[in-house]
Amino acid sequence: MLSGGSYLESYDMIDLHTHQSWPGYSGMIRIRSFQFSEIAELKTFTLPFSVGIHPWEAGDGGLDLALLERWIQQPNCLAVGESGLDKLRGPVLEVQIRWLMAQAQLAMSHSKPMIIHCVRYWNELITIRRKFPEVPAWIIHGFRGKAELAAQLVRHGFYLAFGTALMEESAALAEVFAQVPVTRLFLETDEGDATIEEVYTIAASIRQITPEQLQTAIINNFNTVFGNDVLPRLASTH
Ligand SMILES: [Zn+2]
Repeated sequence: MLSGGSYLESYDMIDLHTHQSWPGYSGMIRIRSFQFSEIAELKTFTLPFSVGIHPWEAGDGGLDLALLERWIQQPNCLAVGESGLDKLRGPVLEVQIRWLMAQAQLAMSHSKPMIIHCVRYWNELITIRRKFPEVPAWIIHGFRGKAELAAQLVRHGFYLAFGTALMEESAALAEVFAQVPVTRLFLETDEGDATIEEVYTIAASIRQITPEQLQTAIINNFNTVFGNDVLPRLASTH
């Protein structure tokens, strides 16, 4: 895939999930995450993005799957989400499940991975994932759970994205991160203040590999999850 190493050189850092619209330096891919309330106001967007109905807004009026689908169909929409389930915030579980399944259906029909926000509804999430085997991948964003949960999710085929919590939190999260198979990892900045370079640096030091090795591994994961054609396509437009 890395013909002549050119994609590796031009794209060495992937930020799976950010809420800032800044394009990043050359060499970065940043997936800008939009919630439904944002696309209702937005006319166009030319950078890579994901879009979904966040579980916190799943009880709001005016949610419109046809509008969501129009955004999902755009070539620079790389994933559906963040979507998911949250036990501490948002409408009742039944409503959250209904919107999550509707979005998984869209992800399936348009062959796009899901980026997932999940708080304490893990069994429900695993059950729903099983109903949609054709969705290319399910990535848990902002993972900060325990080792057993990480292992369980990996066993069920999920990818895990870690972010700035790696810098803020206890050694426990670092230990969890060190044990996740490198083939199932992504890194992200989300709403944190740290840069993606800082996240890569700390993440590589936790795993005792070089940032370059981590970049290569995550580019491989990106190609597996999003398809081999995506980085070359972004390289020609970035
Ligand atoms: Zn987010």
